Amino acid sequence: MKFICRPDKYIVVRVYLLCNADFMFILPFQQNAITLSVLTIQNISKSYGKIQALKNLSFDIPQGCVFGILGPNGSGKTTLLSIILDVLKADAGNFLWFGHPGTPEQRKKIGSLLETPNFYHYLSAINNLKITHSISGRGNLAAINSVLEKVKLYERRNSRFSTYSLGMKQRLAIAAALLGDPKVLVLDEPTNGLDPVGIAEIRELMIGLNKMGHTIIMASHLLDEVEKVCTHVAILKKGELITTGNVDDVLADEDVVEISAEDMDALAAAMTSYNNASSLTREGNRLQVTLPKGTSQLHDINRFCFDKGIVLNHLVFKKKRLEAKFFELTNN
Ligand code: ADP
Ligand code: MG
Repeated sequence: MKFICRPDKYIVVRVYLLCNADFMFILPFQQNAITLSVLTIQNISKSYGKIQALKNLSFDIPQGCVFGILGPNGSGKTTLLSIILDVLKADAGNFLWFGHPGTPEQRKKIGSLLETPNFYHYLSAINNLKITHSISGRGNLAAINSVLEKVKLYERRNSRFSTYSLGMKQRLAIAAALLGDPKVLVLDEPTNGLDPVGIAEIRELMIGLNKMGHTIIMASHLLDEVEKVCTHVAILKKGELITTGNVDDVLADEDVVEISAEDMDALAAAMTSYNNASSLTREGNRLQVTLPKGTSQLHDINRFCFDKGIVLNHLVFKKKRLEAKFFELTNN
């Protein structure tokens, strides 16, 4: 029997029988069955003199995800991205792209944006990308129109760079990174310095590029951004990995239900005998009931209170905020 892994949709199972017949089953691909890594980071450390920027970091980045490297300023995000892009050398440890040590051939599958490129203000998007192409050798002239379409700048392809909004300038930088149709895009704080409209444009673009099949690895110090854009996250604090995994798993490990009633003391007293609650927190005239993930049942809480003679005037399910979780993780 032979297993052939097709990362996109299916696992093809080929069965060779003694009678020489060759049967093939195609099974739906299960995310958990086989997850391919685009990048494996193994025990990477890096110091700048006395400052240890990265401490023995190890984690995997699965194919097809939007992976956020999240941490406050100075936590080592840019250092890590520079190492995996061969701009800096690690002191220890190694990394594998697509399961192999980096080769120039593999590097072509990776587009990156570490610093905003210098575009010529008086040239159009097309002419700027022609220059990028001739310097980097990535992609071809025909690909320029296609990357401009991907970042939704095609209509403005002939306008001068100087007439672009901040968001459009950053989209052009991403278009330059897309030359050569890389499987993976590595972006360092792609929304930094943008106005709210530009931020929204870039976030939407990242989600769109991911849907088109690009794996995206991005650094961010914004919790909100990672929660909105990323499917997976690794949280760094002072160069150390605090946790990594699926955003929903890492960031919401409990259910929180917020309730209130006229008599808050009676409500708080009654809820102490509600079996499922793992903790109760009183905040002004709201009571937050924390329950194990996925176990909250609003109708059950409502009925429980009603049976105790308490009528709720507020009953809301709240996902535990990433912010609270991040604060917990980085302050322990
Ligand atoms: P982040 O991108 O998360 O803000 P960096 O990777 O830029 O973090 O920095 C991690 C740590 O390394 C910080 O303490 C920073 O001051 C230090 N650092 C970064 N680059 C240099 C450098 N070229 N020389 C000395 N220290 C540096
Ligand atoms: Mg940085």
